[in-house]
Amino acid sequence: MLKRWYLKSLKPDYRVEDLFKIDWAEFKSKGIKFVFLDIDNTLAEHGSRQADKYAKEAVDLIKSFDLQICILSNALSDRIADYAKSLDVDYMSQANKPGIKKIMQKISDLNLRADQTLMIGDQIFTDIWAGKRAGCVTIMVKQRFANEAIQIRFKRKLEQFLFNRYEKG
Ligand SMILES: [Mg+2]
Repeated sequence: MLKRWYLKSLKPDYRVEDLFKIDWAEFKSKGIKFVFLDIDNTLAEHGSRQADKYAKEAVDLIKSFDLQICILSNALSDRIADYAKSLDVDYMSQANKPGIKKIMQKISDLNLRADQTLMIGDQIFTDIWAGKRAGCVTIMVKQRFANEAIQIRFKRKLEQFLFNRYEKG
């Protein structure tokens, strides 16, 4: 029972090394129209206010497939607004992931179905869980930077436990 729950709720649909390993053309051809993107350790170093080269190139790549982007972060709006501006993309801060209220609102405002959206992030217990709950296609990327707060390191251990279980089937 527990196993079924975590397989369904927490297993990302795809796992990739980074944003450049995602087959954007393939997702586009499957009807994906919109991308929710986590910031910290997905696009940026934790706490960044400005996009770096990696983030700019990744966002340009996504935009080149005519996919819309919304940065989705649990962090406070002040920093996220600055960061999103440096990439010229939409954003939602204080998103309260794994809560899905803001995600569902956005999907409904856009007149899309959840399965036409991607949720991309580096953490199971916020990004992936939220995406699964909302019905998005979920992609987990490897964290960009290793220097993380203690509570995140703890979650990494739980994530590793889950992946070991997934691999056993
Ligand atoms: Mg993150």
